[in-house]
Amino acid sequence: MDETYKALVLEKGEKAPNVVFKQISRADLPDGDVLVQVSHSSLNYKDGLAVTGAGRVIRDFPMVPGIDFAGTVVESSSPRWKAGNAVVLTGWGVGERWWGGYAGLARLKSEWLVALPDGLSPLHAMSIGTAGLTSMLCVLALEDHGATPDGKPVVVTGAAGGVGSVAVALLATAGYSVTASTGRETETSFLKELGASNVIGRFAASEKPLEPERWGGAVDTVGGQTLAAVLRTLSYGSAAAACGLAGGADLPTSVIPFILRNVALLGVDSVQCPTPRREIAWTRLARDLSPDLLDRLTTVVSLDEVPRLAGEILQGQVRGRVVVDVTR
Ligand code: NDP
Repeated sequence: MDETYKALVLEKGEKAPNVVFKQISRADLPDGDVLVQVSHSSLNYKDGLAVTGAGRVIRDFPMVPGIDFAGTVVESSSPRWKAGNAVVLTGWGVGERWWGGYAGLARLKSEWLVALPDGLSPLHAMSIGTAGLTSMLCVLALEDHGATPDGKPVVVTGAAGGVGSVAVALLATAGYSVTASTGRETETSFLKELGASNVIGRFAASEKPLEPERWGGAVDTVGGQTLAAVLRTLSYGSAAAACGLAGGADLPTSVIPFILRNVALLGVDSVQCPTPRREIAWTRLARDLSPDLLDRLTTVVSLDEVPRLAGEILQGQVRGRVVVDVTR
């Protein structure tokens, strides 16, 4: 008989999906040209929305959520991969429209995979995960726009969360002076350990179109009033990389920072990001984030703990990154 693997499956429920744990086999999986034995997945904000049903992330049930994973190719009909290759997957609608990483086995399209960089373990690849890849894409966007470590500090909002904490570490490693903005004062020492030189509270709403120039750049994971505050405090000619909406999808700002301070708002998406850009990002992530640092920002949990943590991540209560060991 076909070997079976544990999976967290979402089934259609009345108001929210029902979370069930099942054993699945190859025959249960969607079609695809590559089969991967998954060892680790992770918990991202979008997984929180999917598992709790708080956001309409999933429309077709049953669905295995988990928007990212690391593992080993078992079978491939694509010349790009062969059995034994270590791979990492993020985005492309996996865990939303396509069965994802919260199972020991996944079948999907070979072009969605990226080779695990040399020296990076599957566990550490998921310490990085979608959140960390997004942080790296934000840093690359700022650098493409001209940010350099000798300018004013770069501010990271939602700093104690997944995207924010990796962004703090990456920017500090690259030599930037990093100001971490967090609503959790208790995470000050954690953020300083990751390399923040200054930790501040969250930004307050204001009617003012501009305020003193404080930042040489920004990574914003929060949106809403927070991004508006960042824009009116960016220094002349600098940029904010915006990737998140943990505080809201609106943007209550004006054109003033753009037309008087020449600032730029750089949108960052990790889901449809082209593969060559992903490969650049993963190579630099593997180079810049030491195993020790990744361990410090990671909590490893089992699949059984995902439903509880899915609620917590939406409340902004999760620190750093959560890796899901799907073999436990
Ligand atoms: P986390 O929940 O781990 O982090 C979000 C952080 O935002 C929280 O830890 C908290 O940080 C802060 N926050 C939460 N609620 C509020 C609020 N109401 N006002 C101000 N700050 C708040 O999530 P992730 O880091 O995984 O994701 C962050 C955002 O990035 C999400 O919106 C997610 O959807 C988005 N994202 C986008 C991607 C893309 O491709 N564009 C990819 C991955 C994520 P603190 O406690 O430090 O204040």
